[in-house]
Amino acid sequence: MAMNQSGWRPEMTPSASDAPATFTGNRALMLEEPTIFEIGSTDTTGVDFADGDVSGSRLGDLTRKSAIGLPGLSEPETVRHYTRLSRQNYAIDLGLFPLGSCTMKHNPRLNERMARLPGFADVHPLQPVDTVQGALGVINELAMWLITLTGMHGVAMSPKAGAHGELCGILCIKAALEARGEGHRKVVLVPESAHGTNPATAAFAGFQVEDIPATAEGRVDTAALKARLGPDVAAVMITNPNTCGLFERDLKEISDAVHAAGGYVYCDGANFNAIVGRVRPGDLGVDAMHINLHKTFSTPHGGGGPGSGPVVLSEALSPFGPLPFTARHADGHIQLIEEETAGDDHPDTFGRMVAFHGQMGMFTRALTYILSHGADGLRQVAEDAVLNANYVLRSLEGTLDAPFAASGPCMHEAIFSDAGMAQGFTTLDIAKGLIDEGYHPMTVYFPLVVHGAMLVEPTETESKAALDQFIGALRSVAERAKAGDAALKSAPHYAPRRRLDETLAARKPVLVWKDMPVKEAAE
Ligand SMILES: *Cc1c(COP(=O)(O)O)cnc(C)c1O
Repeated sequence: MAMNQSGWRPEMTPSASDAPATFTGNRALMLEEPTIFEIGSTDTTGVDFADGDVSGSRLGDLTRKSAIGLPGLSEPETVRHYTRLSRQNYAIDLGLFPLGSCTMKHNPRLNERMARLPGFADVHPLQPVDTVQGALGVINELAMWLITLTGMHGVAMSPKAGAHGELCGILCIKAALEARGEGHRKVVLVPESAHGTNPATAAFAGFQVEDIPATAEGRVDTAALKARLGPDVAAVMITNPNTCGLFERDLKEISDAVHAAGGYVYCDGANFNAIVGRVRPGDLGVDAMHINLHKTFSTPHGGGGPGSGPVVLSEALSPFGPLPFTARHADGHIQLIEEETAGDDHPDTFGRMVAFHGQMGMFTRALTYILSHGADGLRQVAEDAVLNANYVLRSLEGTLDAPFAASGPCMHEAIFSDAGMAQGFTTLDIAKGLIDEGYHPMTVYFPLVVHGAMLVEPTETESKAALDQFIGALRSVAERAKAGDAALKSAPHYAPRRRLDETLAARKPVLVWKDMPVKEAAE
């Protein structure tokens, strides 16, 4: 790749047809930014240390023999580099984020204020329990809310994300089966439309995964599921509302059948946003369900940011839940039940999920969100999320194929397929076209049961005006795909980078700057 001394790359500049290329590669305030290895040099340094008086290293043979090879930049150069890169991010604070199955909603600033209070932010997990009663009180109060909202018996607060919560729930099920002397039950039934973490969790915990087919209307085939139950089935994992955006109306009937056959019901609760305050999973016979605080309860996520996946448990599974957990005594003192104290009242625990107590910052944010909404406000969250998704679904009728539109109203997300596009045009083209329109694309090609799936979850925090603009953009891009507009095949045209080979980038990531010898980079 050609580059002049200052590192700008004119051929990378996206050019709107009538816009002249610029000398810098910048486009007004959108600044082109090379990688840190292109702007820094390993020969320079941004800091000015006096030569140390290093006599005799205690590292022995491990002492570094060659230079570390990191580029040197001054402080202002470093700050500008990362600030410029950060301006190329898309974020929930910039615009609507229609990613289905992710519940990307606005994160109220009040949550951040509370999480930053020194008493919460500076708390240390090894502090004596008597000095952190307030923090434990937050965990305990949040736990009570989660139990109440789900109608369940207990909750494990420590799992660090949804997938981790799934593992926690499945390990509870495994422990319960072993305690009953039924460790031979090895099969976990998972619907075809499930999030990939469900089968992965079951397999990781040592179970065999079997698919449950779906009906034409996008729900679990209850008859097929019942027919498969038997003495080898440990559990079913069902997502409700499911990843086609539909409520599993038969869940109670399914739970009863699973229980009668000696199995347990795991519910993937990632979509709880659609039913919080309206439906209590405990009433549907669920034994374990994770709640993604970072989805339903608005704690920030994306880009691998911290999550939190508490797992609510039925009376049957609660004794097997992990340590630690909080217990509030009549005098108000909150005890942390750990290994040393669990013996008497929690002898069947399967153990620990994490070193400490879970994600304190996420707990504080989630409880703030819950208390600021109140019970009635939480119910309205679900109602508005469902209303918004149905508005998107119905507004795009006639533009995009909606395979389950005839199955009745959707829940919190609307699903479309790629049917009806011009020859050679795909869901990917629509996603890329949306980038040019200033939107992060919706979830694409998931769930797998819909061909060329586009899963749109607007959430309750978008206004009608914001939805109308998004719908307009999606309609426009979809019409271009139907009309076979060749320019759409090479979208995005206005993003800092054009269409990338995402599969290659994921499968063969280039993590080492090409001018740096690999050996040096690895050291
Ligand atoms: C997000 C999600 C998960 C996984 O949750 P993480 O917090 O990302 O680990 C599992 N199932 C469904 C349906 C989800 O949407």
